[in-house]
Amino acid sequence: MPEPLRVLTLAAEAEPFIKVGGLGDVAGSLPAALRRLPEAVDIRLALPFYPQIDTFPYTLEPLLTFRVPHEQGPIPCEVFQTTEKGVVVYLLKGGPIHASPAIYERDDSHNSFKFTFFSLAALELARHLNWQPHVVHAHDWHTSPAVYKLHLTENQDGFFDNTGTLLTVHNLPYLGDSSALSDFGLPPAEDSPLPDWAQNLPLPLGLFSADKINTVSDGYAKEIMTPEYGAGLDPFLRARREDITGILNGIDTQTWDPEHDVYLPLPYDIDQIHRRRKNKIQLLHEVGLGINPEIPLIGTISRLNRQKGVDLLPGALRLVSDLPWQAILLGTGDPGLERELQGLDGTLPQVRANISYDGELAHRIYGGADMLLIPSRYEPCGLTQMIAMRYGCVPVARATGGLRDTIIDYHGETPQSRPRASTGFLFDRIHPNALAEGIRRALDVYEDDRSWLGLQQRGMKMDFSWTRSAEKYLKLYQEINAPTR
Ligand code: ADP
Repeated sequence: MPEPLRVLTLAAEAEPFIKVGGLGDVAGSLPAALRRLPEAVDIRLALPFYPQIDTFPYTLEPLLTFRVPHEQGPIPCEVFQTTEKGVVVYLLKGGPIHASPAIYERDDSHNSFKFTFFSLAALELARHLNWQPHVVHAHDWHTSPAVYKLHLTENQDGFFDNTGTLLTVHNLPYLGDSSALSDFGLPPAEDSPLPDWAQNLPLPLGLFSADKINTVSDGYAKEIMTPEYGAGLDPFLRARREDITGILNGIDTQTWDPEHDVYLPLPYDIDQIHRRRKNKIQLLHEVGLGINPEIPLIGTISRLNRQKGVDLLPGALRLVSDLPWQAILLGTGDPGLERELQGLDGTLPQVRANISYDGELAHRIYGGADMLLIPSRYEPCGLTQMIAMRYGCVPVARATGGLRDTIIDYHGETPQSRPRASTGFLFDRIHPNALAEGIRRALDVYEDDRSWLGLQQRGMKMDFSWTRSAEKYLKLYQEINAPTR
């Protein structure tokens, strides 16, 4: 039997331990999907042991303690081990992680301290376990310092000499904070091809040092090499074009399964789409909207920030307020946007804004709303449109990144129409008028039961499972490791 490929993946969040957004979905479900492949992959996940992590129902074994070098004296790290869906998970505790009031804090320098500590501690852990990874797989800026550290110690450090690196970009413009790097022994990369302003920032340092880079959809992989989406790094990224690929995220089809969803009043499958009506009635009841199931119910489930185009919602919904619909908007984030949505709730009686993070309500919106609005300015992959389609909730989304890659537009009225393949509605411009037009088109098709059912069924038939994407990650790991195996 060949030796299994050893992969250490590190992330700031991972389901089911801790989740804020899509990164948590991906870092939680990809390792399990890799373990399910027929090829042997020994992938292990390292995660910060935030005080918020609810350890029930896991058995946590204290594994070891060690120190991470720091300018002001070494910082102790304590590691606990557990297993989730066949994947060994290491939870790393230490001063800056323990002192963390939120996963992502408003204080950038504390984020920098916490995530740099975590990144380097994860590498130290591998060394203390004498477990040599073939690949270290980091996600976003938070764990990029690990990639840079491996680059700095290349050919000096016998232990990691055969370790290659992959950096997955879930959200390019979040470049990270540099304040903690030098105290952890990570100097600016002054001789690198990075632009001057980026030579001391975690994500650019990771992008410069990683053997391979991927983003979470093909569309976004192309977009980050353009001035519009490249966050100032597009010339640098174009020069690395050969090493950049896109692998679409999957969704966890066990968590997101309308047929066995414990949060739905009435679970259903593709042959029982009529059951959604009962879910819709319950949902209207739950959020305090008028119980009129004939009227289309619009939903959104989103972090509230400009990336998500949430600022387009009030204008667009006001523009279509003469049409019959009701809406439930679920989200938290930017206080200004929270206020705008609350204002909409106060002025349009058909709107309810629920300003919270509520995982269970999210399930009921996917399972009860008729359509989901996703007006993102940019969207590296996006999970909500895939989850929505799996639940027969039709997405109305901006044509960008992963949204464009996964939704087939209805365009029922044009000669190049693809209504027979379509799964949703796409619009191009970042403007309330364009979103309003997308909503109008969807409301129009909603009137025609057969066309609407077709849209729902085609969406529910799409395969958004992790299997295909996990195979692509495995190939990428094998390529990274090829020169040394
Ligand atoms: P991002 O990672 O950019 O926030 P994604 O579409 O990739 O966006 O993933 C969002 C994930 O977070 C989905 O699983 C979605 O259901 C969930 N989510 C977002 N906002 C909320 C909320 N307010 N309450 C519950 N779940 C939410």
